[in-house]
Amino acid sequence: MIVCLLPLSARSHQVDGEVTVTADVGAYTYGLGHLMKPHRMRVTHELATAYGMLDKMHVLRPKRASPEAMTAFHTDEYIHFLHSVTPETVEKMTYQRTRFLVGDDNPAFEGVFEFCSISAGGSISAAERLASGAADITINWAGGLHHAKKREAAGFCYINDIVLGILELLRTYPRVLYIDIDCHHGDGVEEAFYTTDRVMTCSFHKFGEFFPGTGTQEDLGSGKGKGYSVNVPLKDGISDESFKSVFDPVIDRIMDVFRPSAVVLQCGADSLAGDKLGCLNLTMHGHAHCVQFLRKYNVPLVLLGGGGYTVKNVARAWTYETACALGIEDEIDPNLPWNQYFEWFGPTYRLEVPANNMEDMNVKDRSLDNIREVALEQLQQLSCAPSVQMQDVPAVSVGQHLGFGKYEVEGKDELDERLARKKLSLLKFGLVLFNRDVSSQRAFAIPPHSPRLRIHRRIRRVRLIGFGYVLCFCQSLAPCSTPLLVCLPR
Ligand SMILES: [Zn+2]
Repeated sequence: MIVCLLPLSARSHQVDGEVTVTADVGAYTYGLGHLMKPHRMRVTHELATAYGMLDKMHVLRPKRASPEAMTAFHTDEYIHFLHSVTPETVEKMTYQRTRFLVGDDNPAFEGVFEFCSISAGGSISAAERLASGAADITINWAGGLHHAKKREAAGFCYINDIVLGILELLRTYPRVLYIDIDCHHGDGVEEAFYTTDRVMTCSFHKFGEFFPGTGTQEDLGSGKGKGYSVNVPLKDGISDESFKSVFDPVIDRIMDVFRPSAVVLQCGADSLAGDKLGCLNLTMHGHAHCVQFLRKYNVPLVLLGGGGYTVKNVARAWTYETACALGIEDEIDPNLPWNQYFEWFGPTYRLEVPANNMEDMNVKDRSLDNIREVALEQLQQLSCAPSVQMQDVPAVSVGQHLGFGKYEVEGKDELDERLARKKLSLLKFGLVLFNRDVSSQRAFAIPPHSPRLRIHRRIRRVRLIGFGYVLCFCQSLAPCSTPLLVCLPR
């Protein structure tokens, strides 16, 4: 099996044909104290190198994603913003953080655009490499940023490299399966492909009082995509055994019914035991089981990173999963080889992430059996794999072809301006406004206004503490639609 790794740095072509190599992705920082540490990619790379894995696969330096390539999914306006924003201009350019970069999760750190272009360039190149037949498995640990929306950053993610990668795969493959084992729901990817049957999304995530608050089993997809969004909501402390008892049958059924021609597996490592943000209890082996399980199918496979906030465990898991992709996991020494981060891995200095003593709430209340049954039942409704008439690989990007990104020039976003004013006036009255931790709120599936693969919607959530209800400003961004205002009793 040919495995291809997209490493940390990327090259960009200047106009005169000169090639420059940018700083590696591990050199960027979201800011002091921020939980997301791009440095974890550098530690992973160091471990994989120390184990001698780089000699066993093709290591490809990807091209940086150009702004134009990013607009295959994101709006021109958002990409232009991301390209030009600086820490000094961020307040003004985001209307006091009410658009593009809402809340504190996504700082406008130094070099944010270059960071995104390396991450996204890696996933696009991973998809290209796979589609060209030059590799069976491609890996981009700097990708997997699943929360990014069409015109807004969210949950530490700015550019949705996954959507861009899948769009690239769709140029060649009729059906793509996206699987997400991050502790958080893969909302950005699900939303992007909510109305198509060419991409099935399947997310296993913690649900209930947890960011981003979406991903119930009632969210099935809509229109042509109905039934093609699969959600497996989990509770705290899920063990390897419980996870496997739902992952294996659900993925087996999907492979049987949907018969994907390529699979993208987002290996978010915040589902590991002991993560600083996550609350699940998977060991490194339990997490890597998903990679081993998918590898068995011999379907072209892209492995991506994602969340993961206990850096040394993230590096351990992704290193081990690189070994799983190569099929050498049984040969490598569980005692870590010497490497420049060796002392970080004390006191065990081993390639392992053990479980802790959390109680498995999924087993305690027997909710997992029901969750599994509902997921399998949903898949049972899909009779057979949808077919699509394939022609030669389209010369233009599939995103453009399907209507992502390139559409009528939008007028100034009035809702944003109104929201900006609203926020200021609310703050004047001492009310608390927040845009994340929408955990206790239900997801709003707004039927898309267009039958085409375009979900132009934004959900703005404002909770007025003390009033006991939630105001949700939902706006479909389809050019002709009117904003919706939804009030939910708490
Ligand atoms: Zn996550």
